[in-house]
Amino acid sequence: MCTFSTTPARIHGTNFVKVARVCGIFLVMATLSARATDNPVEKIAQDLSCARGLEWIDRNTPWVTEEQVRLTEIPAPEFSEAPRAEYLKKLFEASGLKVSTDKLGNVIGERPGTDAHSVILFAAHLDTVFPAGTDVRAKRKGDRIEAPGISDNGAGLGAIVGLARALSESHVRTTKTIVLAGDVGEEGEGNLRGIRALVENYGSRLAAVIAIDGPSIEHITTQGIASRRFEVTITGPGGHSWSDFGAPNPITALARGIVQFSAIRLPDDPRSSFNFGVIEGGTSVNSIPGRAVVKVDLRSEEESELARLEAALRDAMQSGVRQEIAASTGAGDPLDLNVRSLGARPAGKLPDNAPLLETIRNVDRYLGNRSRIERSSTDANIPLSLGIPAVSLGGGGKGSGSHTLAEWYDPTDRALGLKRLYLTSLSLAGLQP
Ligand SMILES: [Zn+2]
Repeated sequence: MCTFSTTPARIHGTNFVKVARVCGIFLVMATLSARATDNPVEKIAQDLSCARGLEWIDRNTPWVTEEQVRLTEIPAPEFSEAPRAEYLKKLFEASGLKVSTDKLGNVIGERPGTDAHSVILFAAHLDTVFPAGTDVRAKRKGDRIEAPGISDNGAGLGAIVGLARALSESHVRTTKTIVLAGDVGEEGEGNLRGIRALVENYGSRLAAVIAIDGPSIEHITTQGIASRRFEVTITGPGGHSWSDFGAPNPITALARGIVQFSAIRLPDDPRSSFNFGVIEGGTSVNSIPGRAVVKVDLRSEEESELARLEAALRDAMQSGVRQEIAASTGAGDPLDLNVRSLGARPAGKLPDNAPLLETIRNVDRYLGNRSRIERSSTDANIPLSLGIPAVSLGGGGKGSGSHTLAEWYDPTDRALGLKRLYLTSLSLAGLQP
């Protein structure tokens, strides 16, 4: 806004030019300040203490990568996360957080705000899909670091360590309490037990939950895919491959069931999937097995479709058993079928107009980061299923091959991912003067 203190009639010649010039300058300043306040993240980033944290990130990404490698090289199969958790605890303590470990093994670092009743929780899962004995040593090849678990979730753990340190170096004071956690049981049969406990513990104090999972910063995961996991076991009398030939074979019955279920047609919408991920059974090539087991993962955007898939799986396995018994010549030899649940992840969705989503979009706009909305199955499923605002974000850098031995990570531009998390944390927690 530009107002004249003199009436236009009294402005002449060079005076008019001067006033017009001054007014022009005011107009430009007014437009610039309007633009600056247009995005609230801009104001936060200009705060002196916030800026210290951003500078720390610019100078220290190599340190973050080194800690990511150290964490990745500590094996953390599901249900055996403790040694990795212990090292993360030391890193949190070095960043001045108030650190504790809960009875499940979650490492929790608190950074109290002026309002202890309002909490922003950042959580990165500690566990990997790789069994004990997997070689998790990192191999460097050019810009890439190769190691099982280096991206999922080495990238998330590295990022949460970097976030803790950037907050500490900034000396920033926040309104809400920021909690950083390394949680157990995200992968495989962990059934999200770590995040379930954290969400239950903080309860109604949780204002938002951000799961940091993997490296990519090109997405904001706002929808949690529902999943159900099962272990299907078929047992039978077993026997000698020659002398007992004709007895029903649990492996063959299981194979019949798998083939039948795999012919199921999945809808495009809601998107759904299934995977037979582990199979075992039998003792030797010339013995009819007494037992065969398969583990199955079913996923869908809709619980109703997931229920249909579960019913179809049970039907197919029963049918496999019936077909095998019908094909056998051993009179009356039974096969037993057992379908056991290994866990279920509830679905949930952040509303499109949620303030949390707007905050992250503002951060992306400020940083010039392009991101899209995605659906996935992560720690964010639990808060989302309970109506608590939550997303899953990546930690920065690039990576691929997660859940395979060929997994890799490239830390190039990881500062952008760290700044995204740092500015998100301060935007959500609010700065105190
Ligand atoms: Zn993960």
